[in-house]
Amino acid sequence: MSTKDAISQFTVAILPLGDISDWQIKLTKLVLERDFRLNTVILPATKVPSQYFNAERNYYQSHEILGFIFSQLPENAQRIMGITEKNLENSDNQPCHGFADACNKSAVYSVPPFEKKHHRDALSCHLIIHEFGHTLCLKHCVNTDCAMNERQSSDILCTHCQKWADHELKVRPGSAKERFALAEGLFFYRYFHQAIAMYREAIALAPNEALYYRRLSMALKNIGQKKEAAENLMRAVEKSNDKPNLYFNFGLLYLHNQPQDAEDRFAKAIAVAKDPKFTHRLIGQAYQEITHDVERASRHYKEYLRLGGNDPDIVEWLVSRSQMDPP
Ligand SMILES: [Zn+2]
Ligand SMILES: [Zn+2]
Repeated sequence: MSTKDAISQFTVAILPLGDISDWQIKLTKLVLERDFRLNTVILPATKVPSQYFNAERNYYQSHEILGFIFSQLPENAQRIMGITEKNLENSDNQPCHGFADACNKSAVYSVPPFEKKHHRDALSCHLIIHEFGHTLCLKHCVNTDCAMNERQSSDILCTHCQKWADHELKVRPGSAKERFALAEGLFFYRYFHQAIAMYREAIALAPNEALYYRRLSMALKNIGQKKEAAENLMRAVEKSNDKPNLYFNFGLLYLHNQPQDAEDRFAKAIAVAKDPKFTHRLIGQAYQEITHDVERASRHYKEYLRLGGNDPDIVEWLVSRSQMDPP
């Protein structure tokens, strides 16, 4: 497939680590272009500095080698895939055929040591798709026909994974949306510091997206930066149409240490809600599950029922806490 057919503006750099056959490089290029419809650029073969290699046990530690590969990412590419003929081990010292840091920019695979070319090619196709898929935040897939399945060696993605990959690749590289998508992936895998940096890049490009501030705030909250989290949530509130939800989140921030402030935010969330009964239910749930405050939870749940809510779980909970007579 030629470059003009690519639907994505994504470019993947292919990095041969040491002496890799022309065919192996070409196969990598073909698979990436065919399955992901993106552009590739082949970098000159590079010798890996010896400190990355464990000569005694004859392998690269995957995480370390990914760091080296990442350092070779050219400016005009969004991802980089290394090819090696050496063995790889994951962070638990288990041998592996390939490796990628989830939602990150670099991946690597080891040319399968099979004698027969068609065996080698078949597993290579699987590894290229699987490891590159991880860089697009694809997770392992339960579908055994899918290349993202951990135990099988399929070389096609299932429709679900393909859809996700297409979605990730359609975003214009370097755009606020792309930054945000990466940040969400990092957040998902609990790389909060990197996610925060990425949310900030997205915000710099699109300073009016309430959602970006809100997610940044949640990431900050996860690393204990409460004050900054609150500031960003406030910014999100200023910019948002979805104020009830944001006031509610704001309330959650205060729930443990400043209960009166939490109440004030919750009251605001209720005041601006289109359908306050659902807000009452959310708040009740927060009190029930987070601070185990039966009295406040009951108050909001009762308000939820009074406004027409009829969730049987809530009725049951109120009855069991003797906050209500059985219906
Ligand atoms: Zn995997
Ligand atoms: Zn799948």
